[in-house]
Amino acid sequence: MPEFEPVIGLEIHAQLLTATKIFCGCSTRFGAEPNSALCPVCAGLPGALPVLNRRAVELATRAALALGCRVHSESIFARKNYFYPDLPKGYQISQYDRPLATAGAIAFAADGRQVHVGITRVHMEEDAGKSLHEGLPDSARWTHLDFNRSGVPLIEIVTEPDLRSAADAAEAFSRVREVLVAVGVNDGNMEEGSLRCDANVSVRPVGAAKFGVKTELKNLNSFRHVQRALEFEIDRHIAARQDGVALVQETRLFDPASGRTTVMRTKEEADDYRYFPEPDLPPLVLDAAWIESVRSTLPELPEARRARFVSQYALPEYDAGVLTQSMALADYFERVAAASRNPKAASNWVMGELTRKLNDTKQSIEAVELAPDALAELVTLIDTGRITGPVAKDVFEKMYGTGRRAGDIVAAEGLGRIDDQDAIDRIVAGVLEGHAATVAEYRAGKTKTFGFLVGQVMKATAGKADPARVNESVRRVLGTPAEKAQ
Ligand SMILES: [Zn+2]
Repeated sequence: MPEFEPVIGLEIHAQLLTATKIFCGCSTRFGAEPNSALCPVCAGLPGALPVLNRRAVELATRAALALGCRVHSESIFARKNYFYPDLPKGYQISQYDRPLATAGAIAFAADGRQVHVGITRVHMEEDAGKSLHEGLPDSARWTHLDFNRSGVPLIEIVTEPDLRSAADAAEAFSRVREVLVAVGVNDGNMEEGSLRCDANVSVRPVGAAKFGVKTELKNLNSFRHVQRALEFEIDRHIAARQDGVALVQETRLFDPASGRTTVMRTKEEADDYRYFPEPDLPPLVLDAAWIESVRSTLPELPEARRARFVSQYALPEYDAGVLTQSMALADYFERVAAASRNPKAASNWVMGELTRKLNDTKQSIEAVELAPDALAELVTLIDTGRITGPVAKDVFEKMYGTGRRAGDIVAAEGLGRIDDQDAIDRIVAGVLEGHAATVAEYRAGKTKTFGFLVGQVMKATAGKADPARVNESVRRVLGTPAEKAQ
């Protein structure tokens, strides 16, 4: 029996962050009263004519360039004809054989392997409406239709069938999402449906060139679902091949509760849609200089930024990955790193205390009530020995959300580090006197008690004593323990 490998490609639909629809002035706001954002154009009334939204073209171009695509100077809108209750026009305006952009790629590392995924094309299209089959009082008898989404601008990103595992496919989807969010094209919100993923999957004997029969998995709205749906489907295909059961090309839906996929419909061939050029829209012509001007406004992309954080700041890969999860977090870190001149400490504070505090207070980094240079000042106070680590955490709590500066808090509350060796020795003597039994245990060889005693001294100084001096002083007073340590 040959070994089988999966062959996977993704089709990602991303809503462009425009205020209005792609061919009319209706609002794209999510959660509006059903059928409140409608006009003759998006409702598909006879005689209404589409006018292309310039901002949608700009955002689609941004996305295509960020995904490494070649953006074509001329692309054509096409009608994709099909009947569905949520499609009042009877056709969707999309792009077909002349898409906006082609030949891009994304690359990422997974388990030490370099994964390269070609982007076949990025094209523009309008979204359809939404059928509501449940949740309303008369849902048992009727299907309700909400056309607010009709005409919302989308891009469809189609990858090459380059993926060879469910985990890589989920990772690729997450990398595409990361790029789209980073360049401000999409909000990445999968729960509201502004980012959706379909996956095409087939299996073939390892080494074979010919693709097997594929199925399309529709509307996978989380990375986890992409992975689980594909895992189930790959197993199903391999089992069928091994048992000699013929597979059919079809569209399937994933049920997260059961972890299984079920048939939605047998797959239409492209011809079924009777694509033809949209007669109401001229070809989309983009000036080369305009495309370059869009390119020039792209920010540094997350993958490049991660690599730079490792090389420029000597951060571990882990830190670079966490810090670049959002542009705003990465920006914040860079400001702390620059002002404190201690990138690793800046990284620790941002990933640690600051992130914890943001979670606790349910705040976003964009709205954080702590200036990067204020956090940098705190880092510098530690680095220059003005305060200890334990005190720094206390000072951080007092700074957060209050606008107070670290230096002012330290001065006002007498939190400066105690470096005076005589003073420390006196405190150590007092604390050890109070723990005579533990001291005796230590001297008898139970050396584990050392940390406890140092901790007691630190506590007696409210964390302010220089830990190195405390260690040294405690060691000196305790002397050498008996041979038999345990
Ligand atoms: Zn409209």
